[in-house]
Amino acid sequence: SPYPIKMKGEVVRGFGRGSKELGTPTANLPEEATEALCKDIETGIYFGWSQVGNDPIVYPMVMSLGWNPYYKNEKRSAEVHIMHTFPEDFYGVELRVVVLGYIRPEKDYSSLDALINDINIDIQVANNSLARPAYTEYKKDQLFGISG
Ligand code: ADP
Ligand code: MG
Repeated sequence: SPYPIKMKGEVVRGFGRGSKELGTPTANLPEEATEALCKDIETGIYFGWSQVGNDPIVYPMVMSLGWNPYYKNEKRSAEVHIMHTFPEDFYGVELRVVVLGYIRPEKDYSSLDALINDINIDIQVANNSLARPAYTEYKKDQLFGISG
């Protein structure tokens, strides 16, 4: 198993494709943070834990790994939706993630309703998996320091 996959990097701006308007903003990791670690796994939706900047708390997350159009689809980028309501944006702040499992492949959506529905299912799947002791254990991963 390739898991756990650990990544960290300063949050960069994406294309503002409206994730925030859907209620699921996705914090983009820089290409360098994604490239090396993700080259052996397929594109799609993943789940795991995340931590932002100096916040000691480790939150559940769902991550979309996809080909990055900015790099002519030759490199991948990771977009992380954290299941927590933050008081403000955190562009430029260090984001750390531990990826623990795969949920599903990417899809092309014909309707916004279908997309939102799938995102909500992904979040449920992630929360259910992360509640299991073998996964909860990773909240204490070294990557997150002494917190968790
Ligand atoms: P972009 O295209 O720039 O990624 P988004 O609409 O996807 O724009 O919004 C992402 C930004 O929203 C993140 O970079 C972060 O600063 C902020 N943000 C606020 N709350 C969250 C959250 N719960 N999960 C991820 N990002 C969040
Ligand atoms: Mg985004």
